[in-house]
Amino acid sequence: MGKPTGFLEYKREETRAFSVKERIKNYNEFHEALPIEERRKQASRCMECGVPFCQSGMNIGGMISGCPLNNLIPEWNDLIYRNSMEEAYRRLRMTNNFPEFTSRVCPALCEKACTCSANGDAVTVRNNEYSIVETAYQNGWAKAEPPEVRTGKKVAVIGSGPSGLAAADQLNRRGHSVTVFERSDRVGGLLMYGIPNMKLDKSVINRRIDIMKAEGVEFKTGVDVGKNISLKELKKDYDRIILACGASNPRDIKVDGRDAEGIYFAVDFLKSTTKALLDCGLKGGNYISAKDKDVVVIGGGDTGNDCVGTCVRHGAKSILQLEMMPKLPDKRAENNPWPQWPRVCKTDYGQEEAAEVYGTDPRIYQTTVKKFLKDKNGKLKGAVLVNLSFEKDETTGRMNMKEVEGSEYEVEAGLVLIAAGFLGSENYITSAFGVELDGRTNVIGQNDSHKTNVENVFTAGDMHSGQSLVVRAIRDGRDCAREVDESLMGYSNPV
Ligand SMILES: Cc1cc2nc3c(=O)[nH]c(=O)nc-3n(C[C@H](O)[C@H](O)[C@H](O)COP(=O)(O)OP(=O)(O)OC[C@H]3O[C@@H](n4cnc5c(N)ncnc54)[C@H](O)[C@@H]3O)c2cc1C
Ligand code: SF4
Repeated sequence: MGKPTGFLEYKREETRAFSVKERIKNYNEFHEALPIEERRKQASRCMECGVPFCQSGMNIGGMISGCPLNNLIPEWNDLIYRNSMEEAYRRLRMTNNFPEFTSRVCPALCEKACTCSANGDAVTVRNNEYSIVETAYQNGWAKAEPPEVRTGKKVAVIGSGPSGLAAADQLNRRGHSVTVFERSDRVGGLLMYGIPNMKLDKSVINRRIDIMKAEGVEFKTGVDVGKNISLKELKKDYDRIILACGASNPRDIKVDGRDAEGIYFAVDFLKSTTKALLDCGLKGGNYISAKDKDVVVIGGGDTGNDCVGTCVRHGAKSILQLEMMPKLPDKRAENNPWPQWPRVCKTDYGQEEAAEVYGTDPRIYQTTVKKFLKDKNGKLKGAVLVNLSFEKDETTGRMNMKEVEGSEYEVEAGLVLIAAGFLGSENYITSAFGVELDGRTNVIGQNDSHKTNVENVFTAGDMHSGQSLVVRAIRDGRDCAREVDESLMGYSNPV
């Protein structure tokens, strides 16, 4: 431990966010890194616990607590404090292929399990990670390091989200020749066309892809596997195939009026903004716009929040965000102690921005849509909302949801965005490969592995475990790569 008294001397200080007024003028990232001397103080708050829960990635109380990648957090906190940033980067890269992504978008499961947060403020682990990786890019330490020897084995990765990229990176570093197939026009999966630019600037993805290309990974975009190219053709050319196609099948809201013009799935909306931003700086209006519209976002989660933040930037007239569940408490409940994941109410950037711009928090709880209203031309003009109550079923102990009779009311709406979660993998690809699915349409790995029922075909990421987090997708991609490597070489020794 660099400074045993760091946690007593220094207060937690996060990277500073630009004011709402400033940041909503554009789609840029809006945090300003702390100067290195301040960062070293923050790193010195780490107590280097004997049992570092922050890096454990354990399932406690049904939720993951600590870093799923088992990042060596106390070690690199110490290295930051000692100003050994290059070594810190090397330690970080050992467990995390893409710290530039996680340090921007990860909900920081590590910090919720940090010992300092048991009765105070957690160490700024995610911001420290950001500082390490950005310093590495600034100094040229994050650079192409192609493998010295090639094995002659070929692997096809289908899907270029974080799980596919992590698997490709690991296998390429082992010397296998890897080709990543992506149906979209750009690489990155939901990193590119889901998470908005203000959370993850797309140049950050391209910067890493350029390194991977220089290291020998081949990327083929605009190839829809299962449609443009068959399993038979792939098997002819590749020794192993990894399916990492995500869980992009959205849950719909099937109520009267659903066919009204002006109702979109959240990811289609978010993708259209990012694509237009990258293609033409949003000029030409070729995207789904919220400008001057009353917007209803259905779904109170992170995807819903990204829609809110994007609508604020479009210049929406008003924004409502509907959440079916009751509001969570502001502080941990007694039955949700540290180091469990805290089930508390989180106000994210989009909600903060909407509250400041429109004068009120956009979220309404225990509410859902009963009906969409359309005008005589079939255009959306409003929605009927209804309140919900929860009653405990005494036999099962489960909470049952019920509409509150007579609580219906109408709101105006020119745009509805459905952010109600995802149902699993897409049928055309799983049926083209003939892989077995579980009840949620996730692809089954045999005996808890990543190997599917189809010979030499593996699976990783959300397609394997359901819609989750970037950090978990990277973890699953790495675990899958190890099994693929083992199956090719008889043993695995990832770099
Ligand atoms: C709007 C939104 C915001 C999110 N924000 C966060 C966040 O802030 N932090 C966080 O940790 N997680 C976030 N997530 C979750 C996270 O993005 C996902 O868990 C993660 O991207 C899953 O990675 P993946 O590689 O399994 O799949 P994906 O990222 O979904 O990538 C799958 C890729 O496969 C491609 N593909 C599919 N079928 C084919 C085919 N037949 N042929 C070729 N290519 C194909 C797709 O085009 C896609 O590019 C968010 C999710 C959404 C929807
Ligand atoms: S990847 Fe996420 S959980 Fe792991 S150290 Fe980074 S911020 Fe924490």
